[in-house]
Amino acid sequence: MNLQKTPTTALVLDDNRGTRRQIVSDLEQSGIFSHIYEAGDGLDGLHKVSETLPDIILCDVEMPRLDGLKFLAAIRSKPETEHIPVLILTSSSDRGVKLKGLTDGARDFILIPYDPQELAARARLHLNAKRREEELRKQNQELELLSNKDTLTGAFNRRYLNHILNVELLRAARTDGLISVLMIDIDHFKQINDTFGHQSGDHVLKRMTTEITASLRDYDLLFRYGGEEFVVLLPDTSHREAKNVAHRLCQKVHTLRFADALAHLQLTVSIGVAEFPGMDIGTAEELLDYADQALYQAKENGRNQIA
Ligand code: GH3
Ligand code: MG
Ligand code: MG
Repeated sequence: MNLQKTPTTALVLDDNRGTRRQIVSDLEQSGIFSHIYEAGDGLDGLHKVSETLPDIILCDVEMPRLDGLKFLAAIRSKPETEHIPVLILTSSSDRGVKLKGLTDGARDFILIPYDPQELAARARLHLNAKRREEELRKQNQELELLSNKDTLTGAFNRRYLNHILNVELLRAARTDGLISVLMIDIDHFKQINDTFGHQSGDHVLKRMTTEITASLRDYDLLFRYGGEEFVVLLPDTSHREAKNVAHRLCQKVHTLRFADALAHLQLTVSIGVAEFPGMDIGTAEELLDYADQALYQAKENGRNQIA
């Protein structure tokens, strides 16, 4: 991996100006860094870290105001900085300090005087390790997202609904907030499959997903609940507002036009609306049950409507 391709920054902390300048100058010689920041103690260091988010930190142990070990602890305790490698650089060979530093999450312990080329080599090593960790974290996030989503439509899946609904209900209960859900079912969907084929049915499901997503707010979530059934989760939304959203969606689907073989298709949906908390609605299961019963009512009443 060529480190010079992306801008790479370091932060050097040492209260001794001479030592600090020497470390900075050696690191500059290595050509690894596009910029090297400096701080004279731990407190100053913390400010510099939050301002500049350096890729690597080289840190002295004994410093006024906030020493190296306390600085290290502060860096490791914040999610936005915990992944920055911290290398301890000191002229004290105190075994206790060394062990404490390494146990508390320092990546390396380098004794002054050091060999400048070795220092650069170690910095490079830790930067490469950090890049690989970042890539892994990103891949894991992508995998997690994939498993939260339905593969046909790209909407969130039922597994994720079960998870997030419980989280949202806890939050609403704690903050005296409201949550509404819509249970949406396409009317006579089976006929679409039977008339135009399964592929066309799939196309309709994807188009529905796009259209519904486009009419929701950023923090509303759409889930594919089953075959042609969808759930919309509306945080901080009363039953009354949810009914408006449901009406709008019903209307939108009704006016959707498709191309080619589906040109004459008149798509409609039925929607059941439920709100948490409610008389008999205290759990995620009860909320979904209620919405499902309302949906059944909408079907009974003639479809293309909400209940
Ligand atoms: P209703 O108005 O009462 O909801 O009638 P419906 O025909 O929409 O409902 P029903 O539950 O009888 O049929 C749903 C159909 O959806 C049957 C099933 O084959 C089809 N289906 C389920 N998943 C998929 C899918 O991923 N793709 C396609 N093309 N069809 C699917
Ligand atoms: Mg249906
Ligand atoms: Mg159905």
